[in-house]
Amino acid sequence: MKKILLSFFATFTFFVSVSAQLKSPSEFLGYELGTQFTRHHEVVDYYEYLAKEAPDRVRLTLYGKTNERRPLLLVYVSSAENISNLETIRLEHLKDTQEGGNTSKAIVWLSYNVHGNESVSTEASMKTIYELLTAKSQYLENTVVIMDPCINPDGRDRYSNWYNQFKNTPFQIDPNSKEHHEGWWNGRSNHYMFDLNRDWAWLTQVESQQRLKVYNEWLPHVHVDFHEQGVDNPYYFAPAAEPYHEVITDFQRDFQITLGKNHAKYFDANGWFYFTKEVFDLFYPSYGDTYPTYNGAIGMTYEQGGSGRGGLGVITQIGDTLTLKDRIAHHFTTGISTVEVSSQNAERLNSEFKKFYENQNFKYKSYILNGDKDKIDALKSLLEKHKIEYGSPSNGTVKGFDYSTGKNGSMSTSSNSLVVSTNQTKGTLVKVLFEPNAKLSDSLTYDITAWSLPYAYGLDAIASTSVVSANAGTNTMASSNINITADSYAYITDWNSLKDAKFLAELLKSGIRVRKADHPFSVEGQSFDRGTLIITKGDNQYKDNFLEVLKAAADKYGKNITSSTTGFVDSGKDFGSSSIKMITEPKIAVLSGGPTSTLRFGEIWHFFEQQLHYPLTVIDDAYADRVDLDDYNILVLPGGRYGNHFKEKQLNKLQQWVKKGGKIIAMGGSIDAIDGENGFGIQKREVENDPSTNVPSLHKNSERERIKDAITGAIFKTKVDNTHPLAYGYGKDYFTLKLGNASYDYLKSGNAVYLGKNIKPFSGFAGSEAQKKVMESLIFGVENVGSGQVIYMVDNPLFRGFWENGKLFFANALFMVD
Ligand SMILES: [Zn+2]
Repeated sequence: MKKILLSFFATFTFFVSVSAQLKSPSEFLGYELGTQFTRHHEVVDYYEYLAKEAPDRVRLTLYGKTNERRPLLLVYVSSAENISNLETIRLEHLKDTQEGGNTSKAIVWLSYNVHGNESVSTEASMKTIYELLTAKSQYLENTVVIMDPCINPDGRDRYSNWYNQFKNTPFQIDPNSKEHHEGWWNGRSNHYMFDLNRDWAWLTQVESQQRLKVYNEWLPHVHVDFHEQGVDNPYYFAPAAEPYHEVITDFQRDFQITLGKNHAKYFDANGWFYFTKEVFDLFYPSYGDTYPTYNGAIGMTYEQGGSGRGGLGVITQIGDTLTLKDRIAHHFTTGISTVEVSSQNAERLNSEFKKFYENQNFKYKSYILNGDKDKIDALKSLLEKHKIEYGSPSNGTVKGFDYSTGKNGSMSTSSNSLVVSTNQTKGTLVKVLFEPNAKLSDSLTYDITAWSLPYAYGLDAIASTSVVSANAGTNTMASSNINITADSYAYITDWNSLKDAKFLAELLKSGIRVRKADHPFSVEGQSFDRGTLIITKGDNQYKDNFLEVLKAAADKYGKNITSSTTGFVDSGKDFGSSSIKMITEPKIAVLSGGPTSTLRFGEIWHFFEQQLHYPLTVIDDAYADRVDLDDYNILVLPGGRYGNHFKEKQLNKLQQWVKKGGKIIAMGGSIDAIDGENGFGIQKREVENDPSTNVPSLHKNSERERIKDAITGAIFKTKVDNTHPLAYGYGKDYFTLKLGNASYDYLKSGNAVYLGKNIKPFSGFAGSEAQKKVMESLIFGVENVGSGQVIYMVDNPLFRGFWENGKLFFANALFMVD
């Protein structure tokens, strides 16, 4: 009897310590979940609380910080036994990518709130972890759940703080009320207005960079990215829509159906609406569903209706009220259902994951690349972040598909070449990122259809059907080779890459005066091309510590500097010639707000601050009229929907400013605002409809008819006049990523980059009518107006920050065009 009593007592205390002490999100936060948007720091508090109260089953780690210094968390939830063996489970699981490990646990990674204003996700995550720790803890016996409660804390807090400021009390379900209409600083993006769900492969953002490090330490079996779509859409879950990338295995396809059917069971029981197999495809590799898929996971997107219009409650088109509580219930249900199915299929997930990492017999086995060392180095650094191995080949010749001609060809190799092969752990990802033209099973897709890295990095490349042997490569950041002696007349350095632009930016910020060569020249037996930077002692004689500052900048960027004892050239113009012009220190204004696109603005903002490291002034459209433009010499107009945004008075002001020497960089849709009708020289070609590439639509059939007019992110080979300052540092052709069919006639002069006749995309989809429309059209050009210039950028070299080879055009626009 005594014994029984004791054991009853022990069970009772155990029960108390688990359930009665662990507070639900509502109990912890002090309000019912779904009646408020929880600020990020409160979410962090709740997860920290759980980790403290249930340390045997919850482990919390910080994996980084955002631009605005918010913490990025990962929370591991599993049985006490699994949590105490977490490192062993991880290492055994990773062995499955090699010879095979010894674990049967399912690894499920749940990512919440990648899009800032799709902010139901983080709320749902708190309910999900609580349920996993209490009612559904049986799933955790054989499953490790890794939760990222908020991938994008800056974006989430931007939305939730804004909502808290503007909401009615009690909240107003009338969709006309302000609480359902964010301002211009809106939406899904992070601090720099980048879409983190387009950044998994390119890793331009700090959130992605830090996350991928830990992601690669786990490589889960299942990855879910929780989203929201428009308020009038129901719920979307797997299986995904076509196109599927061809590397996706039968098991990966089938398991999406298994999961979807389990979710449907719960949705059916509740009478909730949902759809599958539509809109959200698995092709573009930089999403939170595709990237994990190409790394062996079942990668999925789940979409709840709601998003930035949702608020705490809103009336939908059919007259129902959609509340935050409903939205939480749906995301909570699919999250738990995902863990349930994974737990039931843990063995199969493990065996299929192993199979995924067995060597695949892809058509192309090795990709061999040649080109500018700075560009090779930039690519190596991306490959390292993805744990993709590379090497350098021996001297010789390789044959195969030639990226520059689109036909079979050959290329000579040296120890400076780069070889990336598919016979490695990340072989599938190598194929996806490098193959010249990804096979498209359906031309209707949610995003761009081409991204091949040799084109994006501007490298010559051959895809070979046999493995090219290579020595293991290392990324030796070029060390500077400087021979700076005080008795030199000038210091000379080349101009070929973004790195060179960063170096120049550093010098200008330090107050060093720099000249540029507009013609090739040779001095003391060495030849230099257009765009070469010339830093003379004479220009900088009053600059304190001139040589130390120069040397420090060269060291920082690994620049080779050639010293010259004379300004007397062997050929070309002497350094004292009026042809060797001083580079004007840019004073940069960038328009924001109003007609500009947040994403297009963000790319420029990020370029200046995080890539070039050069200051800019952000001028909002709301007060732009009151700004004295004479304080600046460059005005950047980001892409957007301008139409005839500028009034006559504003256009006159812009024209006068350019005539006096100002420089406008007009990108994408902003060109329309200043085109031929509006005072400057460029002429738009009339096109009937310009279907946007990135807008999802449920009405695919009508889209199908229009697709012949569309270009959905395809790569075209353009011609380059590299004697033009806008194209210094480039060769005779350039592969551009075209995002739409907007096209402009050639300028009377100053066509630096343009499309010729009879063009077709080298990679990706372009409809037949659209191809005709962009024939013989301008890509990048300069119109001289008085003492100033207007630089037109029809295509976007800063798109998502990943088209590495386009960035020097933008730098040329800042520094070289005069
Ligand atoms: Zn989303």
